[in-house]
Amino acid sequence: MSIQSNSVRSRVTNNGTVVIKVFPVRAQGEVCIKCLKDTEKSIHHVVPSIYTKVLLPNVVITHNTFNMCCACHHDYEYDITNSAHKYRAELAELYIPKSPDYLLNNGVLMRSCHQKLHKAQLYALPMYKHRNVLPEDVRTQFNAFLRDFFEGDYTDEDLRKLLNKSSNYPIKAGEMVVRQLRGQQQLIDFCAGWKAHFLSGIGLTEKEAIKRGLKKGCRFVDYGYP
Ligand SMILES: [Zn+2]
Ligand SMILES: [Zn+2]
Repeated sequence: MSIQSNSVRSRVTNNGTVVIKVFPVRAQGEVCIKCLKDTEKSIHHVVPSIYTKVLLPNVVITHNTFNMCCACHHDYEYDITNSAHKYRAELAELYIPKSPDYLLNNGVLMRSCHQKLHKAQLYALPMYKHRNVLPEDVRTQFNAFLRDFFEGDYTDEDLRKLLNKSSNYPIKAGEMVVRQLRGQQQLIDFCAGWKAHFLSGIGLTEKEAIKRGLKKGCRFVDYGYP
């Protein structure tokens, strides 16, 4: 997968840091880049922060964030046919090696061995706190699963202990994807892919987006690393 873009540029500094510019545009202002309205602003990250947060310590992405109104932002993230949400899930499928140790569900990873524990914890909370108000059929279903999990009768104390178990089991898919990116060129292509996805998602060419940013004053902010 390699989507080239001439406005994703990179350079390596003297100390070996890779600096990636997603949009080489810097403008001031507050309007939404898609609809140009000045209402309900939110900040969008072209390369999502689930990756940039865990990107290698020697990589800096600049010019990665700017304003969208909440409606356009929500459309792009979730509602359009190939939403950012869907693209994230596809990238996870593409980059994360298949393993019996992991389950991948909509871009979220979980250790296989924790699948049952996770479900048991989901059921344990209502059974511990609200057992008497649960609808009969729900209570029967939860109870059957928990009896299977505990291999027999269980007490409130068992439920309490189960709920106190570490829930630190979902694996960060963003981190797993970033770990698979090999070398600077793959990293740049990855960022270019997100930029291309974003532009097609909001229905603008790069030229138009840049022009809007400059003319109408969309804000492009440095994504800084210490
Ligand atoms: Zn908008
Ligand atoms: Zn966003």
